[in-house]
Amino acid sequence: MERSATVADRASAERPKRAFVLGYPVAHSRSPLLHGHWLRTLGLDGSYERAEVAPEALAGFFARLPAEGFVGGNVTVPHKVAVIPHVAQLDPAAQAIGAVNTIWTEAGALVGGNTDAAGFLAHLDASAPGWEADEAVVLGAGGAARAVVYGLRERGVRVHLVNRTLGAAETLAARFGRGVEAHAMAALPTVLGRGGLLVNATALGMQGKPPLPIDLAPLRRDAIVYDIVYVPLDTALLTEARARGHRTVDGLGMLLHQAVPGFARWFGHTPAVTPELRALIEADVRAQR
Ligand code: NAP
Repeated sequence: MERSATVADRASAERPKRAFVLGYPVAHSRSPLLHGHWLRTLGLDGSYERAEVAPEALAGFFARLPAEGFVGGNVTVPHKVAVIPHVAQLDPAAQAIGAVNTIWTEAGALVGGNTDAAGFLAHLDASAPGWEADEAVVLGAGGAARAVVYGLRERGVRVHLVNRTLGAAETLAARFGRGVEAHAMAALPTVLGRGGLLVNATALGMQGKPPLPIDLAPLRRDAIVYDIVYVPLDTALLTEARARGHRTVDGLGMLLHQAVPGFARWFGHTPAVTPELRALIEADVRAQR
């Protein structure tokens, strides 16, 4: 019995590892392009595959995972919350954010993690060294804003959360407790002057959506402007911020950096976010316009 388990373990360890991106639909996901680049350039024998699974088929998908040789994967809309009952445990980020975007296996059990906050911070650290602000203004109170707020609180930054629906900002602020203050949009001109970092985590400025209606005049002159929207890459917010002399950070790097921890866990190699990778994904984003 013990002997056959060892042989089976060895056989599964030798099988090429498979990872998935789970969504519904999932055809739009750029993750296969990104992870495919890393698998190719690192010369690894593994695969990263789209898994289009309807909400009612989620339980069946998870039941089949081990037999199909999947070691984990990414989770996208609409499953980021729905997968929680299907994993054995959550990492601290997923627990605080309340959503899972990365799943991996530890000692035979599935772990649900969230790498959006790590990706948000890694890109900020890489593109705006020395950015560390005491206070930040975050626009939005949806799923992405939750990850941004979690990341900023992990670094001890006090957050002013501004959202169209004040109730949503208040709920999010209550989730994080001290250090996060909710404001209505009308308070933005006053609040803007307080932050050394402004983050757009709303859907505004995205292709197909109106631009963010914001006057940057009250913003501190040394403030950094970070737009996590990455389609288009040059949002109206970033263009205006640059014209006013602010340092800016775009959303594409967050997408690239959030992918690193998952790949490292599934395939055992920590990949790099290189200019070559960025150019590959940037070309794909620009082709979408
Ligand atoms: P979400 O959960 O749907 O939240 C959307 C947010 O945008 C809410 O705060 C919403 O305010 C606000 N909003 C939407 N339409 C608005 C309007 N017309 N006027 C004012 N506010 C409006 O979406 P999400 O998942 O957080 O994503 C938000 C953005 O982040 C998207 O553009 C997404 O592409 C981007 N994102 C980027 C990355 C990356 O890696 N770079 C990762 C995740 C997400 P209300 O509460 O008032 O509705």
